[in-house]
Amino acid sequence: MQPLFKALLDLLLPSFCLACEKPLGASPELLFCPDCLKRLRFIQSPLCPCCGRVYLVAAGGDHHCGACLTTTRHFTRARALFLYEEPLKKVVHHFKYQGKTDCLPSFTRFARKLPQQIEMEAVDLIVPVPLHQKRLQERGFNQALLLARAFFPKDQRIITNLLIRSRPTAPQTGFSGTARRTNLKNAFAVIKPHRLTGKKILLVDDVFTTGTTVNECARVLKKAGAVEVMVLTLARVTEDY
Ligand SMILES: [Zn+2]
Ligand SMILES: [Zn+2]
Repeated sequence: MQPLFKALLDLLLPSFCLACEKPLGASPELLFCPDCLKRLRFIQSPLCPCCGRVYLVAAGGDHHCGACLTTTRHFTRARALFLYEEPLKKVVHHFKYQGKTDCLPSFTRFARKLPQQIEMEAVDLIVPVPLHQKRLQERGFNQALLLARAFFPKDQRIITNLLIRSRPTAPQTGFSGTARRTNLKNAFAVIKPHRLTGKKILLVDDVFTTGTTVNECARVLKKAGAVEVMVLTLARVTEDY
């Protein structure tokens, strides 16, 4: 872009911090002010090597969490970029429920710090967690697909017509434990199983809470022939519940 044109654009369309709405300098690389940027916490060890749960107070190395030792995980590992806390929570909320997609270019920049444990060269297909057709129409976009595109721009491995949400489900936030699993029973289906045979899949979603949704997707994908399912989310809650 020409410098003059860029300067003009900054004047006409000033940028604001996605979280606190403070005005930002000209053409910022990230739409976060320095204060909010400092408060974003990238996920790092020690964590659970399976579900990616972070041990905020524990010293020492990675080790499996209680939930992964006692429940069947159909994915081999789940990783996230950030802890799901303020100020990111607010940004995710604006994105999901108000359709504010101006966060996506910043997420593309952050994706340079994708967790190394996700070996992208080994991934055959990138599958966003699908929405039911009805929810998709209401919202107008699937946030998991937009995130997958933001993390992996122009990546031909992103595929949306393979895993579908075959029946509408109530939001998982209203349930806990077993009720979460019951809510998702038979909610997902694979429509082109032959494309999955022997494939390594990376599932993408916005937030990892208990992992029930991605676990159910992984179960369905593996039943249809996938050899391995890994999970990547933008954020992850700090406590299992
Ligand atoms: Zn800010
Ligand atoms: Zn775990």
